[in-house]
Amino acid sequence: MVDFFPSASRFGDADKPREECGVFGIIGCETAASHTALGLHALQHRGQEAVGIVTTDGDRFFAERALGLVGDTFADSTVLARLKGSAAIGHVRYATTGETILRNVQPLFAELAFGGFAIAHNGNLTNALKLRQQLIDNGSLFQATTDTEVIIHLMARAQNASTVVERLIAALKQVTGAYSLICLTKDSVIGVRDPAGVRPLVLGRLDGKPVLASETCGLDIIGATLERDISPGELIVLHTDGRVESFFPFDAVASRFCVFEYIYFARPDSDLNEKSVYAVRRRIGMELAHEAGINADVVIPVPDSGVPAAIGYAQAANLPFELGIIRNHYVGRTFIEPTDQIRHLGVKLKHNPNRAELKDKRVILVDDSIVRGTTSVKIVDMVRQAGAKEVHLRIASPPTINPCFYGIDTPSKEKLLASNHTLEEMRKYIGVDSLAFLSVDGLYRAVGEAKRNKEMPQYCDACFTGDYPLPLVDMTPEQKGKKRKALLHC
Ligand code: AMP
Repeated sequence: MVDFFPSASRFGDADKPREECGVFGIIGCETAASHTALGLHALQHRGQEAVGIVTTDGDRFFAERALGLVGDTFADSTVLARLKGSAAIGHVRYATTGETILRNVQPLFAELAFGGFAIAHNGNLTNALKLRQQLIDNGSLFQATTDTEVIIHLMARAQNASTVVERLIAALKQVTGAYSLICLTKDSVIGVRDPAGVRPLVLGRLDGKPVLASETCGLDIIGATLERDISPGELIVLHTDGRVESFFPFDAVASRFCVFEYIYFARPDSDLNEKSVYAVRRRIGMELAHEAGINADVVIPVPDSGVPAAIGYAQAANLPFELGIIRNHYVGRTFIEPTDQIRHLGVKLKHNPNRAELKDKRVILVDDSIVRGTTSVKIVDMVRQAGAKEVHLRIASPPTINPCFYGIDTPSKEKLLASNHTLEEMRKYIGVDSLAFLSVDGLYRAVGEAKRNKEMPQYCDACFTGDYPLPLVDMTPEQKGKKRKALLHC
């Protein structure tokens, strides 16, 4: 989901990029709203700034949307009691600032010719600005400033289509980009994955009733069992009686799942495309140890995102693994860091050195990725202050040199450290004795491929290679290289 008119870059001045969105849906369940709240809670890592749930009792629709974490609003039984019905969909997102914020919180809802329709979107439509302008020129009135609303307007205009599913297909045939959608009608929940399958979406079962979630951890929390991943380009209709209909309405294209889901986004206890995220991350660490081993005393992860790779590194290098940095788990959202001065302290609020494990040691520090480099600079400084004799930074991904246009909020190219600096420049800037990134082929080996297929890459790896698999219609060539105009991802 993107915001056409964010008041500021979503990166703002925060030292970290934001995460994307999480979606959840369930039908035929007496406690649909509370199950959805639980599912969203498990998907909270995919977006912490806003949350919404829409339910239906087969006649009326009920919606609750709020800023903040799932538990801030949906732990309240009176809120859940207002969400009547046995079908529900929900969404967690990172939000922009400003007064438009609540209008952009998903699921979006509209009364269409066929009845109520709600939609929750993870991904980013790349031709939404263009479509929106055309729709406005033809009289459409938009309420929110997200790309997702374009889908609703396209559905409203798909008058030749006789069913809601046909309308949705007609709308989606006009959009390009990445989307995993969960939609709600008065008698069904609909899930769709874009033809390249960039973002994840899984189908599970709870007491025989179908459930959809961005990741398997969203199924685990409610005791649902994983049935399968929704296939790229698949549209699936879930019915109250448990029936599931599957369609493949789009022209087939090569699948290009986002490899960064494995590196950073997804929870390590999720399985994506039948691969354990944790196991992939551990293999990444092993590859890194083989590619960039060095003499040292101890392997230390940057918690939490560097932990599985550091375990793999330590295992492959036969070195001790220790928690040399401890993370405070009660520091979360950035709005508790309101001023620049406080925000600058961000990493200190979050991380503290475990001095006994660092002092006088030759440390291999493992983190998942470097975006702007701010985190690395602060962490390395902290480790040195704690008395480490040497610090060797190992990054469990290739250098991030390009922005994502498919649903991950990365900064523009000029702000990506690796895009403008050589390895040696980065090493000096971060202040480490040595610095190494995983190679692109090492990453592909870790996800189970022999190597990257240059002609037909198995994953979307545009952030590392610049090979964008889907059209970037809304971006001028200049914007493609530099700054996205007025786009906010989800
Ligand atoms: P930076 O300080 O900008 O280099 O941030 C790097 C850290 O941010 C990484 O170690 C990850 O833990 C985290 N990260 C990487 N990519 C993203 C992203 N797209 N959204 C949120 N956090 C991210």
